[in-house]
Amino acid sequence: MRETMSETMPAADAKCAAPPMYAFRCEACGEIHYPRHYVCKTCGSQDFDEVVLDGACLLETWTRVFNLPEGYMKPSLCFGMVRFPNGLVVAGQLDVEEPRIGMELQTSVGVIKEGIGQDNYGFIFIENNMKE
Ligand SMILES: [Zn+2]
Repeated sequence: MRETMSETMPAADAKCAAPPMYAFRCEACGEIHYPRHYVCKTCGSQDFDEVVLDGACLLETWTRVFNLPEGYMKPSLCFGMVRFPNGLVVAGQLDVEEPRIGMELQTSVGVIKEGIGQDNYGFIFIENNMKE
């Protein structure tokens, strides 16, 4: 069971250090894709640079889902679409008490779905308390 994330990640969380999440920038035209595309949707090039997706983003919309499928050890979850400063819109889990459209969030990566011997990592967006 996951605890509420604090500003300073406790050392105990280091054992499951989450991998960074990447977007993929077309080397030819600069269009940013997420998730990975094999062919650029703008110019057709197949060469991409990896761009780490992290930092602040804005909540575009969100929903709360009940009756989750097997593998989610919670009664309900919030999912949101966020916009990064580079314009990319990405979906992920929200770990926010009262989501508000337009609020600033901070990107984190964590286990989004627990599996037997295989946890799945994904975006978990948390409240950006650094702005207060
Ligand atoms: Zn391109």
